[in-house]
Amino acid sequence: MSLDPQNSPAVTSVPAGAAAPSPLVPAPFSYRDGDLYCDDVRLSEIAAAAGTPCYVYGAAGIRDRYLAYRDALVGVPHAICYAVKANSSLAILRLLAELGAGFDIVSGGELFRVLRAGGDPAKVVFSGVGKAESEIAYALNQGIHSFNCESESELLLLAATARGMGTRARVSLRVNPDVDANTHPYISTGLQEHKFGIPFPEARRLYTQYRGDPGIEWVGVSCHIGSQILDVSPLVEAVEKVLALASDLRAEGIPIQEVDIGGGLGIAYRPQEEPTAIPSFIAQVLEKFRLSGFSLAVEPGRSLVAESGVLLTRVLHLKPGSDRNFVIVDAAMNDLIRPVLYHAHHEIAPLTLRPSQPLVADVVGPVCESGDFFARKRTLPEVSQGEWLAICAAGAYGFSLSSNYNARPRAAEVLVEGATWRVVRERESWEDLIRGESF
Ligand SMILES: *Cc1c(COP(=O)(O)O)cnc(C)c1O
Repeated sequence: MSLDPQNSPAVTSVPAGAAAPSPLVPAPFSYRDGDLYCDDVRLSEIAAAAGTPCYVYGAAGIRDRYLAYRDALVGVPHAICYAVKANSSLAILRLLAELGAGFDIVSGGELFRVLRAGGDPAKVVFSGVGKAESEIAYALNQGIHSFNCESESELLLLAATARGMGTRARVSLRVNPDVDANTHPYISTGLQEHKFGIPFPEARRLYTQYRGDPGIEWVGVSCHIGSQILDVSPLVEAVEKVLALASDLRAEGIPIQEVDIGGGLGIAYRPQEEPTAIPSFIAQVLEKFRLSGFSLAVEPGRSLVAESGVLLTRVLHLKPGSDRNFVIVDAAMNDLIRPVLYHAHHEIAPLTLRPSQPLVADVVGPVCESGDFFARKRTLPEVSQGEWLAICAAGAYGFSLSSNYNARPRAAEVLVEGATWRVVRERESWEDLIRGESF
């Protein structure tokens, strides 16, 4: 194995005879004659023209998943509020707004993005534990559908801000159903130990105590127990508990109409993972809703956009070692932090398949952190210096969690529509890195 950087061979290692496993590439990505495509566009064409690292999103995949929710909810009063934090690209917000989606936001900045993309403020719900007065005033001015309120302190601020503006804030309390989502601790939110939501007894008190407040109009009850939930039974259990609470409140004369069950449906990041399909999940939820009389709001993020995005990257160097082989690529943890933050698995797929010996390696970026990896001890098809790879299922919590760490410009973003593609966010320049700074 030569280490001559000018003529670095493919790092070939180990299990002689074994074939490289084929990576899981969900629709709208697929191999055609050995080349990886997004819809009808060859990804190597995008990588060559737009450069790397680069996020590529398939519009058709996002549309299909949105329509899966909508079709499953036909005939039921409902709202599908896309959780903007999963991917707040204007192009994706626009695509979903055109389909009639609502939006779940967690900051004033996200509301600004939604409005810029043509989203309807009357379909926006504002979640999050720490809303500032300026954000509340902005949202009230824009006439959003409702606030999901997470504490009495916030409720007081909502009421006072609305009264000061001569209006009422439409509010649902986000309750904490105390169920375990069985997911990674950092994306589990539905237990009493978490900062999210209000315990049921306190929620009951608040609904009653503030029902006459001239700054508050009660809308419903909301919850969100976590993310990347593969077995939906905890979600369905939470729905059951929240519906029971909502029915009690209604019986006590609190005028609520809506139950918001949050997001959280998981996707398959690994070939062996079997998430509940969108139609089956909604059917299980609707079974609980039947005859309740409440309208249903859902706030899906990941399940709408994750599978429809990849992060394209180029192999910079191969660094064979006695303990590990390293494949050093031009994307890094600042572009996609999920592997180190959530111990997340992302399939890594070559843009061109060819017969090869498998290779076991760590796929790492250039950032000066040992946590800067995309895969460890991964069995991959043989890779060569200069070759492009796709890091799969990167459409959610990818770009939106990216940063400029190590003074790395953030990646370009591309949207594919059928046989065409366009850059929807330019790669940042070095000038962008210092914008607004002074000394
Ligand atoms: C993050 C979040 C969502 C979306 O979660 P996914 O797992 O991406 O579907 C929905 N609602 C709230 C309140 C959130 O914080």
